[in-house]
Amino acid sequence: MVERERLSKLSDLALRHRREGLTKVLPPLAEVLRGSLMERYLTCGNPDCKCARGERHGPVWYLSVTLDQSHRAGCTVPGDQVEQVRRWIENYRQVKENLEKISDINRELMRRLKAKNKKKKNAKT
Ligand SMILES: [Zn+2]
Repeated sequence: MVERERLSKLSDLALRHRREGLTKVLPPLAEVLRGSLMERYLTCGNPDCKCARGERHGPVWYLSVTLDQSHRAGCTVPGDQVEQVRRWIENYRQVKENLEKISDINRELMRRLKAKNKKKKNAKT
């Protein structure tokens, strides 16, 4: 809401510049991942193991992805892939955020065009 109020105060040119800028700061689109990375500590079931006394095994990293309202997918992530997965999740968030901002700008520009055309039409009649 705050963002939209701010957009309405900018000129068309400023909005177009901002939109252009947003397309230029996108992370590599091949390097995105949707989901959340979770850190888990597990027990192995052996009653003699240290994990039975509270010293659990881990961390085990797990990527969890919501597919739709009733389905989730996921997989464990090897330790040496954790940093990349973190980066790709962050990239996904960034791409999504920028698309939202571009979309807001386009909606604002559409609104202005409509208002302008209406004015023109009213001036003719
Ligand atoms: Zn154990």
